[in-house]
Amino acid sequence: MIPAGFDYHAPATLSEAVALLSRYGEGAKVLSGGQSLLPLLKLRLGHAEHLVDIGRIPGLEYVKEEGGMLRIGGRTRESALEQSELIRGRYPILYDTVRVIADPLVRNLATVGGNLAHGDPGNDHPATMLALGAQVVAVGPSGERVIPIDKFFLGLFTTALQPDEILTEIRIPSPPPRSGGAYVKLERKVGDYATAAAAAQVTLGANGAFDHVGLALTNAGPTPVRSQDAEDALIATQQTEEQERRQQAAVDTAQRAFDIANAQLRAGVVNVLTVLNTETALFSAQNMLLQVKFARLNAIVSLFRALGGAWKDTGDSNA
Ligand SMILES: Cc1cc2nc3c(=O)[nH]c(=O)nc-3n(C[C@H](O)[C@H](O)[C@H](O)COP(=O)(O)OP(=O)(O)OC[C@H]3O[C@@H](n4cnc5c(N)ncnc54)[C@H](O)[C@@H]3O)c2cc1C
Repeated sequence: MIPAGFDYHAPATLSEAVALLSRYGEGAKVLSGGQSLLPLLKLRLGHAEHLVDIGRIPGLEYVKEEGGMLRIGGRTRESALEQSELIRGRYPILYDTVRVIADPLVRNLATVGGNLAHGDPGNDHPATMLALGAQVVAVGPSGERVIPIDKFFLGLFTTALQPDEILTEIRIPSPPPRSGGAYVKLERKVGDYATAAAAAQVTLGANGAFDHVGLALTNAGPTPVRSQDAEDALIATQQTEEQERRQQAAVDTAQRAFDIANAQLRAGVVNVLTVLNTETALFSAQNMLLQVKFARLNAIVSLFRALGGAWKDTGDSNA
């Protein structure tokens, strides 16, 4: 439980940190909250000759809306996200997510950027960021680049970040009116990593059909899984044979994705995707969202009710 020796660096600026990472290459690691990295080093499952602590660099911790985007600084602690009124009011899917990450002690240290940069399919933020269509900002020796979240997770513990890049910001498009979202996690006990979990973010159009659907799964494969088939099926406006075929494809995808996950959640997700086809499900959640007269939104609400999660609508239901 004692890590191998390493040199510790505490740069005061971003450019100093990038220069250190460039100098030491693969032998260096960014240290943020340390809640994933330090246990790995202690167990000797990971190795670093140089740790570059970004904790003293100013300007990396913030949560704000600007230019039509929610911007989260790469070194923002989970506890700051959890306590943010902006997150509670406008981004319920993020609030759902952050409050089920580990426990308050871990959330006081762990950072949102670290949660993504670690590339662990068991972490909770990745699926949520996929459902939200986020972008990741990385700064390296050649400057800044923006990576769409769909291109960020490359494999188990592997992301698109280069060894000399620092994740400085996460950008999320601000939700239009009549948007809502939720994150539902199945865990063995409170504070555990997910056995499996599902993230959903939807926006309703004027005709009551879904204009936008983002669905993604945690711990359902070596990377977080975006459920493109299920998204496409939900965007359908009227039931046609083709759409029923696509819904069945979505169910099949969910079934495959959850083959390695917990049977209970698998049954729940598959069941709920299946009931999207039925009249019963279309009206079963009416008492939760009476003011939102959109049967398909009710169907996805029943999805989360079936999985035991809470649904919150952030949009203007009168719009
Ligand atoms: C007991 C316990 C329970 C946990 N349970 C959960 C859980 O239920 N759900 C969950 O999602 N997570 C859980 N975690 C993980 C926790 O959320 C991690 O802290 C988080 O995943 C990593 O964030 P960090 O800031 O601590 O990163 P660190 O541990 O400092 O770094 C993790 C990795 O990311 C890299 N990195 C970090 N920040 C950056 C950056 N800005 N730019 C480039 N690379 C960077 C590091 O080099 C390292 O490789 C748990 C951790 C513990 C200890």
